Amino acid sequence: MLQQSIQVLSGVGEKRAKDLADLGIETIEQLLSYYPFRYDDIQERQLSEIQDQEKVTIKGVVVSPAVVSRFGYKKSRLQFRMMQNHDVFSVSFFNQPYLKDKVEVSEDIAVYGKWDAKKKSLLGMKILGSNSEGDFAPIYHVSKAVRQATLITLIRQAFDAYGAEIEENLPLSLIEKYRLLSRKEAMYAMHFPTDRKQHHQAKRRVVFEEFFLFQMRIQGLKKAEKAEVNGLAVLYDVDRLKEFTRSLPFELTHAQKRVTNEICHDLRSPKHMQRLLQGDVGSGKTVVAAIALYATVTAGFQGALMVPTEILAQQHMESLNQLFDPTKVCVALLTGSTKTKERREILEALANGEIDIIVGTHALIQEGVDFANLGLVITDEQHRFGVNQRRVLREKGLQPDVLFMTATPIPRTLAITAYGEMDVSIIDEMPAGRIPVETRWIQPPQLNQVLEWTYKELNAGHQMYVICPLIEESEMLDVQNAVSIYEELKEFFAPKFEVSLLHGKMKNSEKDEIMEAFKNNESQVLVSTTVIEVGVNVPNATMMLIIDADRFGLAQLHQLRGRVGRGAEASYCVLVANPKNDTGKERMKIMTETTNGFVVSEKDLELRGPGEVFGFRQSGLPEFSAGDLVADAHILEVARDEAQNVWQMEQWQILPEYAALATYLDQESENQFFD
Ligand code: ADP
Ligand code: MG
Repeated sequence: MLQQSIQVLSGVGEKRAKDLADLGIETIEQLLSYYPFRYDDIQERQLSEIQDQEKVTIKGVVVSPAVVSRFGYKKSRLQFRMMQNHDVFSVSFFNQPYLKDKVEVSEDIAVYGKWDAKKKSLLGMKILGSNSEGDFAPIYHVSKAVRQATLITLIRQAFDAYGAEIEENLPLSLIEKYRLLSRKEAMYAMHFPTDRKQHHQAKRRVVFEEFFLFQMRIQGLKKAEKAEVNGLAVLYDVDRLKEFTRSLPFELTHAQKRVTNEICHDLRSPKHMQRLLQGDVGSGKTVVAAIALYATVTAGFQGALMVPTEILAQQHMESLNQLFDPTKVCVALLTGSTKTKERREILEALANGEIDIIVGTHALIQEGVDFANLGLVITDEQHRFGVNQRRVLREKGLQPDVLFMTATPIPRTLAITAYGEMDVSIIDEMPAGRIPVETRWIQPPQLNQVLEWTYKELNAGHQMYVICPLIEESEMLDVQNAVSIYEELKEFFAPKFEVSLLHGKMKNSEKDEIMEAFKNNESQVLVSTTVIEVGVNVPNATMMLIIDADRFGLAQLHQLRGRVGRGAEASYCVLVANPKNDTGKERMKIMTETTNGFVVSEKDLELRGPGEVFGFRQSGLPEFSAGDLVADAHILEVARDEAQNVWQMEQWQILPEYAALATYLDQESENQFFD
């Protein structure tokens, strides 16, 4: 049985089982599908082809004995020369004097390391031994307790004993259509490929399988949600809705009209709405939310708007009150700082239906809040909302339509994966008359010059945000850092301009006061940590200075930048950064080159990978073991289409061709991927 514990293998006792469990390996199947994260390709590379600083494996013959020189306390350097095609280069290893035994003059060896083209030398990281070990060696993520060699021995043993039990789980039609290796062949070849080509075939199969199975689950979920007929039909009053949109202070953009229609269509339908509304910062999601909420109210239901922070809740409350001014809609705000008495009144009014729309933080749904008849829940910043809250709603027996709004533009491929069970609406157009924010990247020494320039801008009546970096792992340091920047700027701008400070450690009431003062132009410069990241709207603020900008993700920088450029005047964003490496520089450059959030996130994804960009936990993105959401994006799309095809068949589970697939998914469903 592949589901057996790895303890059935010889050499695996309780201790080793625990060490393996730390790597996520508990069963034979998990061991067999614990794939290498890379392969050492010991092919001969011509020195002239290797880029400076590239990590490579170079094969050659040792031409000088290894010499160890010691320096400092316990430090050493091992050096020798190698030759490849009459080209001699030097190799050095630091603090690994014991490698001396592995280096014999006139022997062939392969060394993995970083190439320095100028010095013509290799900074060695690993000696891979001679040819006898094969030219294409798998490398696994291992731990101190479990070594490469141990793992490989165990995998071999597992294949010998249980390999025959590996069964196909994909339908034959797909295997033939995409010329995939069988499951067994592929799993074996992932660990012990004979050559690059075979490995490529194996990988293709394994990645397809992983994506396909994932999409089967997601599409199944989507179908199940859709099938629930106990969703609400929100039969809104078309005339009142039209009247409301006419009362708005501006004409909706085409994109806003399109997504509003999509949402209204879902509201009307008795099916359960699960829709993601994506739109760049400033694209005008709030008014779309307001229209949806208003529609819900005209149908006799209540609506809830949930946001991640109190400041945002307040701001949304204000916007809604303005938009709903010509109507009789009753909006209330409920947050952690609502006073007990007021809170009781609000809860009562919600329960008896006097309140039409409630705005609050995410705590809203978790506490003892009862609705008279909740019809629509809208959450802002979906990636902070997460899957759990969706479940909480369901568990409370509430089946409202749900609209998730996010300003984090998610590249298509990721949307397929992270939000595959949702429908997606995109606002891809900005309201007319917006001037794109001009973004500049400067080095820290240029800061003073920039400050002089900002002084002039402030003189012209504008305001400025200064964003201080997040210092990981220490909120205290964050605050200290923000405080010292605040003090410096206070001195610089005194006495003409007021500088204020906002950070996460402040009381809510304090934060509100400071925000309010900035809004009213009582302070002209607002120094802040990223607590103001989302939503704040002060059109007169036309400048943003982001200190140590390279510490932020691109998506986050883009979000921050969205705080300026909200009025009719030209706005500026200055990134102050001295990135250490090329990726960092590239990221700063991208910010200066585009203001399109989709382009930004697409690039960020390319540069850093999905895990870094979104954080798996937060986004509900699954971690794939073989597939790469960026590199294998085309496989992902094919897998999605094929999974949709399967789910389009009535009762595909009972068709003989899909029996194995159905069984496999059933088995796996115990390992729920959500949660
Ligand atoms: P988002 O929430 O998508 O970041 P907002 O809803 O806060 O954006 O809208 C940003 C600003 O644009 C607001 O001041 C809003 O009143 C304004 N706005 C929204 N839609 C339009 C439109 N169609 N035409 C002009 N201004 C608009
Ligand atoms: Mg918004």
